Amino acid sequence: MINYPYQSLILLSGWTVAGDHFKTWHQEICNRNKSGELYWVDSTIVPLVNTSGKIDRYLSVRVDITARKQKDLDLNERLKESNCLHTVRNYLEQDLSVEKTCQSILNCLTLALQFPEMAVAMLKLADKQFTTASYQDNFPNTISAKIIANGEVCGLLQVAYIQDLSFVLPYEQNLIDTVAHDLSRWYERTEAEKRIIEMATHDALTGLPNRHLLQDRIEQALVHDTRSQRQMAVLFIDLDHFKTINDSLGHDIGDLLLKAVAERLLICVRNEDTVARQGGDEFIVVLNSITESLDAAKVAQKILDSLLRPYYIHKNELHIGGSIGIAVFPNDGTNAETLLKNSDVAMYHAKENGRNNYQFFTDELNKSAHERHTLGLDLRYALERNELVLYYQPVMDMPNHQLHSIEALLRWRHPEHKLIAPDKFINLAEETGLIIPIGEWVLKTVCAQIKAWQEQDYIVPKVAINLSARQFRDKELINNISRILSETGVEAKYIALEITESMLIDNIERVVETLNRLSAMGIQISIDDFGTGYSSLSYLKRFPIHTLKIDRSFVRDIVTDKNDRTIVATIIAMAHSLEMDVIAEGIETEEQLNLLMAQKCNHYQGYYFSKPVPVSEIEHTLLKPIPPTSKIRVIHSAK
Ligand code: C2E
Ligand code: MG
Ligand code: MG
Repeated sequence: MINYPYQSLILLSGWTVAGDHFKTWHQEICNRNKSGELYWVDSTIVPLVNTSGKIDRYLSVRVDITARKQKDLDLNERLKESNCLHTVRNYLEQDLSVEKTCQSILNCLTLALQFPEMAVAMLKLADKQFTTASYQDNFPNTISAKIIANGEVCGLLQVAYIQDLSFVLPYEQNLIDTVAHDLSRWYERTEAEKRIIEMATHDALTGLPNRHLLQDRIEQALVHDTRSQRQMAVLFIDLDHFKTINDSLGHDIGDLLLKAVAERLLICVRNEDTVARQGGDEFIVVLNSITESLDAAKVAQKILDSLLRPYYIHKNELHIGGSIGIAVFPNDGTNAETLLKNSDVAMYHAKENGRNNYQFFTDELNKSAHERHTLGLDLRYALERNELVLYYQPVMDMPNHQLHSIEALLRWRHPEHKLIAPDKFINLAEETGLIIPIGEWVLKTVCAQIKAWQEQDYIVPKVAINLSARQFRDKELINNISRILSETGVEAKYIALEITESMLIDNIERVVETLNRLSAMGIQISIDDFGTGYSSLSYLKRFPIHTLKIDRSFVRDIVTDKNDRTIVATIIAMAHSLEMDVIAEGIETEEQLNLLMAQKCNHYQGYYFSKPVPVSEIEHTLLKPIPPTSKIRVIHSAK
C-alpha cells in the first residue's frame, strides 16, 4: 500500500481503493495560476473500484508543495549550475578551437537547464553563430545575455525551450549571465592573444606578413617544393625614390602610398603566394611551385607595370616605380636566408641598371656583392692607413675662362684595387656611418691645403666640398666646421659646401637654420646635381643658396636634344631671377660650352677644361701674385 502523507484521504462508501494490480499515479507537477505565478503540486491519483470490482472513479489528491520544491530545486539546480560553470570554465581554459569551445559550452549549458531535453541554445560571437540541434530563431520566451568584450557588444548567448513552457526560472538567467560573462572575458583574452600574435607576425601598416612570418612561409614552401620537385621564386621589391615622396609630402601620405602598393602587389599574385613587407619601402613576394624561372619574370613584369600606374592620394597624383631582384630555388639558394640575401643582391643590380626593372640573381652578382662587403670592411681602415686622397677639378668662368673655384673630389687609393672613385664607396660610407669621420678628414685636408697654398703665395680660389646627407644631418656639423676653420686659420669665405636637393626636403626648419648659420659664417652653399631631385626652383627661394650646379645629365645631350636645351635655359633664367650663380657640370665639348655660354651660364666644370687632378697638377691652374702667363692652360682636354 502507498504510504500517503496526507490527511485528506477520505474513502467514500461503496468504493474501495483498487488492489495492488492497479497502479496509483503520483507526480510532482509545475503549474501556473491565473495571475501567472508558478506553483508546484504533489498530485496523487488513486483508482477506485466499485462493488463489481471495476474502476469507475479516481481519487485525486493534490498538495501544494511550492515552498518545499523551491527549496529542493534551488539546491539541486545550484548544484547543476555550479557543475555547468565548472565545465564551461574548463573548456575556456583549454586551447580548443573557437568552434569546439563554443559548441561544447552550448551543449553543457543546455544540460544544466531545468528541462534539458527541451532546451536549445545559440551563441553568436563576432561574425560566427553556433547553435545546438533543433535551434530556431523564433522560439518564444528565450532568455539571453550579451557578450561584451572591451566595452563593446560582440555577441549574444541565448537559450530557449522548444515548447512554450514559459516557466523559466530566475536562476537560468543567472546562469546564462555568468556563462556570458565568462565567455566575454575569454573572448577578450583570445582577441588580445590574437592581436599579439598578429603584431609579432604582421606588419602593422599594411597587414602583410612581416619578415619573421615570411621566413616561416619560405621554409614551409621549400619543404613542399622540394617534395614536389617544383621551383620557387623570391622577389625582392624596392620602391624607387620612395624616400623623396615620404620626405616631401609627409609620412602620412607615404604610409598611404605603401598601403596602396601592398594592395597592388596582392592583386598581382595567386592566393597561394605570399606578399610580405620586409620593412621601409621593401616588399617580398614568394611565388610557390613555379615550373620555370620565366614564370617569375612574368610576375615581376606584371608587378612593375602595376606599380607604375598613378596613385591618387589626398588629391596628389603620385608615381612610383620599383626595382625587383629575383632568386629562384633551388639554383640560387636552398634556404630562406640565402634566397632572401640573393634576391636582395639582384635587387641592387636592378637599381644600378636604372631602376624600374627586374634582375635575376647570378653568381657574378654574388661576387660583386661580396666585393662590396669586403670593401666595406677595408673602408674602416682607409683613414688610418692614409689611403684617402683629394683630387681637385677647376670650375671656370664664362665667357672669359678664368679660374672661378675648384671642387675637392675624394678618391681612395686601395692597396689592391688601385684608385677607387667616390661613387663606389660614398654610399658604403653613408650606410656604415664612416662618412662622418671621412667627411671631417675631407674638410681638414682641404683647409690645410688652402693654408699651404696661401703660404706658397698662390692666389687661392674658393674650394667646394661635397657634403653627404648624413653629414648634413649631423648635429655637430657646424661646430666641426668652425673648429677646423679656426684650427687651420682658414677664412670661411674660401669654402663652398655642395649639398643636393633631397637634403633640403627633410625637416625644413632645421635645414633653414643650418644653412642660415653656415651662410652667416661666410660659407657659400651650392646645390649639386640640380634637376635630378624633385624640388622646384621656386622651392629654393626660402634657402640661402648661392650657386646652382646643373646636373651633367642635362648637359650631356644639350647639343642634340632640344628639350634639354629648353630645360637648361629655363633653369638658368630662373636661377638668375633668384640671384643665384649657375655652374654647368660635365662640359666635355666646345659645342656644349658655346651653347651654355649663349644661355648666359656663369661657370662651367668638366673634362673639356680639366678632369679632377691630384694636388700637384691643380697647382698649375692656381695663380701666383705675378702670373707667369695669362693664357688659360688646358690640363686634360676631352678625347
Ligand atoms: P659631383 O659632386 O657631382 O662631382 C662631379 C662628378 O662629375 C665627379 O665625379 C667628376 O669627376 C665628374 N665629372 C666632372 N666633369 C665631368 C665631365 O666632363 N664628364 C664626366 N663624365 N664626368 C665629369 P667623381 O669625382 O667620381 O665624384 C662623384 C661624386 O661623388 C660627386 O659628384 C660627389 O657627389 C661625390 N663625392 C666626391 N667627393 C666627395 C666627398 O668628399 N664627400 C662626399 N660626401 N661626396 C663626394
Ligand atoms: Mg659636387
Ligand atoms: Mg654634381
